[in-house]
Amino acid sequence: MEINAKSVWSSCLSIIRDNIDHQSFKTWFDPIKALKLDDNVLTIQVPSQFFYEWLEEHYINLLRKTIKKELGLNGRLEYSIVMDNAVNKQDQYSIIIPTSNRSAKNNQDVSMPINLSSSSKTIPDPFIIPGIQKVKVNSQLVERYSFENFIEGDCNRLARSAGLAIGKNPGKTAFNPLFIYSKVGLGKSHLAHAIGLEVKNNFPEKTILYVTADQFMAQYIESVRNNNQTDFTNFYQLIDVLIIDDIQFLAGKDKTQDVFFHIFNQLHQRSKQLVITSDKPPVDIEGMEPRLLSRFKWGLTADLQLPDLETRIAILQKRLYNDGITMPENVIEYLAYSIISNIRELEGAMISVLAQASLNKKEINLDLARQIVENFVRNTNKEISIDYIQKIVSEYFGLTVDQMNSKTRKRNIVQARQLAMFFAKTHTKTSLTSIGLHCGNKDHATVLHACKTVQNLIETDKEFKGYADDLEKKIKL
Ligand code: ADP
Ligand code: MG
Repeated sequence: MEINAKSVWSSCLSIIRDNIDHQSFKTWFDPIKALKLDDNVLTIQVPSQFFYEWLEEHYINLLRKTIKKELGLNGRLEYSIVMDNAVNKQDQYSIIIPTSNRSAKNNQDVSMPINLSSSSKTIPDPFIIPGIQKVKVNSQLVERYSFENFIEGDCNRLARSAGLAIGKNPGKTAFNPLFIYSKVGLGKSHLAHAIGLEVKNNFPEKTILYVTADQFMAQYIESVRNNNQTDFTNFYQLIDVLIIDDIQFLAGKDKTQDVFFHIFNQLHQRSKQLVITSDKPPVDIEGMEPRLLSRFKWGLTADLQLPDLETRIAILQKRLYNDGITMPENVIEYLAYSIISNIRELEGAMISVLAQASLNKKEINLDLARQIVENFVRNTNKEISIDYIQKIVSEYFGLTVDQMNSKTRKRNIVQARQLAMFFAKTHTKTSLTSIGLHCGNKDHATVLHACKTVQNLIETDKEFKGYADDLEKKIKL
């Protein structure tokens, strides 16, 4: 058989394949092309500088032995690196791997240092701070979301202590990945940042990256558009602690899931830490590849539950303390007592109280808190939809929704329909056109007319006002 670059490399590959796991093989050896064989020097082409460095760092011994086996003692390996920015242009670094094992000193002499200065290129990525020699990743961590500011409670004990353990020992605990889930506003993002900040504190040299799943996807799509997916995946190989927030966003995004799967594997394999958050436990995320879901369960899955009253109070107090603001105890308690299902809303209500008090030069007291909580609960907790309004109104008049929306001109039906339009206008943000479409395919002028008529009748017709008041109460219930 003729001995050429391809056949030699292919023999090398079969040895390499037996010595490393499948995923690493696919990642690091599949993309290599054998270019030429000259005088026992085999030249292989690698996709990027990073790729070359990676091979050097992790597979040099294996490569050395393999080349020796295939090409004998004089065999050598050279790399040719594809420069991403200049199509067709290839940089021959002539990095030579000696086939015999030498002492460390000699070794240094032989394997030439690669020139990283002028011809080197940083991996183009939005998270990289430009102008810094060593590739530096902007971690995107928010200082405020620290463990110090994360109040401990029964609701978060497991997730919090797992997070702290990771902070001390990223990648080396059993919690890899750490999968945190909860409903919205219960502290997932905060805890995820806290873990990153803790690692940063304890290991300043480690590279940490916080990204939301949608940033991750946008970045990936951008790389596809610019035809530099390799840079994208290579960039993620630099990360020691990768935090992906709101992974449920990748549901149904097959391509992005696919790249994430590979990135996950590569990082996990090298004991890099992964922290993932989601608004649902893995079993409930639909549209996610089973192989990804199963990986999410490799480490620890921990949920954040609703905080109890004491924890809610402590959260508010901490926030006030940090901002150097005082608030009467009874107001804090009232807020914590009233808003239970979402910490973000709880904080929002508190901020609202502070804002109202300072804008209107009012005293911060229970009355003010009551007003704000009332508005707050009404505005935020209840998403009133047109469908819901139609259901309430039609039931109230003993009609079905279809009857109410039919073309008939019967007075009682017309009135019911007009009331439904009126409440849709006053309680939802839906446009007149859209309300019309929902209410028997009417145009926006008809809806506007209905609203005026109802307003008129409320002012002039006692019985009608009674209906409207009843309905108003039912809708807000
Ligand atoms: P999620 O990501 O689950 O929607 P966030 O992490 O954004 O929730 O949290 C919402 C708000 O509640 C943030 O301002 C966060 O600082 C605060 N918060 C949540 N849990 C705690 C906690 N245990 N201690 C202090 N603040 C908290
Ligand atoms: Mg969040």
